[in-house]
Amino acid sequence: MNKENVRRKIVIIGAGFVGSSVAYALTLRNIAHEIVLVDIDRDKAEGEALDIRHGMPSIGDTVVCAGEFSDCAECDLIIITAGVGRKPGQSRRDLTAENIGIMQSVIDSIKPYYTGSVILIISNPVDVLTYKVNEWLDIPNGRVFSSGCSLDTSRLVSCLAEYFNVSTRLVDAVVIGEHGDAQIPVWSAVRIAGVPIAQYCEESEIIWNDRIQNDLALKTKKMGAGIIKRKGKTNYGIATCACDIADSVVNNKPAIFSVSSVLHGEYGQDNAALSVPSVVDASGVSRTIPVPLSENELADYSNAAGAVRKLLAEFK
Ligand code: NAD
Repeated sequence: MNKENVRRKIVIIGAGFVGSSVAYALTLRNIAHEIVLVDIDRDKAEGEALDIRHGMPSIGDTVVCAGEFSDCAECDLIIITAGVGRKPGQSRRDLTAENIGIMQSVIDSIKPYYTGSVILIISNPVDVLTYKVNEWLDIPNGRVFSSGCSLDTSRLVSCLAEYFNVSTRLVDAVVIGEHGDAQIPVWSAVRIAGVPIAQYCEESEIIWNDRIQNDLALKTKKMGAGIIKRKGKTNYGIATCACDIADSVVNNKPAIFSVSSVLHGEYGQDNAALSVPSVVDASGVSRTIPVPLSENELADYSNAAGAVRKLLAEFK
C-alpha cells in the first residue's frame, strides 16, 4: 500500500484522561495526519486539543482539534473512551448499566455519519461494550473490537521482565479472556528470548512453579487497582497500547494483539466478546490466532466467557 495515499484520520470520542492521553501519545508518534477530539464537554475537548497542539512545533505535523460526531464520516478509526469509572460502593452491574447507556448515546450520535471505519473501544467494561456495539451496528465481524487484554498483556510482560531481570523486549507473553478478574495468563506460551519458559528457568536455575505463577498473575491483575488507589485513574499505559493498535489500523501494519472481539467458536465459545491473540490491520481484527491452551486454561476461558455472558444477559 502506498502510505502517501492513506489519509489517516482518527476521531477520539471522550476527551477525558484516557482520550486526551491517547491523542497525545498518537501525536508524539506521528501516527495520524489528523486527530479529532469529541466530547459532550466541548470546552474540555478544545482545551485538550489546544494543549497538545501547542507542543507541535517540536513534535511533528499532526493536526489536532476538537470536533463533532459528524467528523466520524470518512475517518479511518474511531476510538471510544467515553465512560465513567467505578464510584466507591458502586456495583459492577450498576457501572455496566451506566456505561452501556453512555455507549448507546455515543453510537446513536455516530450512526448518522458512520461510513464503515474501524471502531476501537476502550471504555469499560470493554468486553460487554464490544458485544453490545457489535449488536447495535451490525457491521462486518472484527470491524468493532476493544483494547481487551492488550494492557494486561503489557503488564504481565513488565512483571515477567522484573522477575527474570531482563528487558521487556526479551519477554514474549500473552493474557487472554476477560479484561478484568477473569483474565488468563497463558503460561505455556511464555518465552524469554525465544526460549520456552520452563527450559529457560531450568537452564538459568530460576524458580518457576505454581506459587510464582499465581503471584505474578495476581500482581498483573491488581496493577490497575493499585494505580487507581494511588492516582485515581489509569491513562498512560492504555494510551500506549491504544497507540500501537491504532498504528496497525491506520497505517495498515498488521500486528498481533490480545484484543477483544465477538467470538465465533474460538476455544469453543460464542455469544460473547473476549480477548484472543488477533491480527489487527486496516480492516480491524482480520483474524484470530488462538494460542494452544492447557486443560486448566481452557476451563478458565470457558468460565470467563460464562461470566461475561451472564453480565450481558442482564442487559438484553
Ligand atoms: P474521564 O471521566 O476522564 O473521561 C470520560 C470523558 O467522556 C469525559 O470527558 C466525558 O465528558 C466524556 N463523555 C461522557 N459521555 C459522553 C458522550 N455521550 N459523548 C462524548 N463524550 C462523553 O474518564 P477516563 O479516565 O478517560 O476513562 C474513560 C473510560 O476508559 C472509562 O470507562 C474507564 O474505565 C476506561 N478505561 C479503560 C481502560 C482499558 O484498559 N480498557 C484503561 C483505563 C480506563
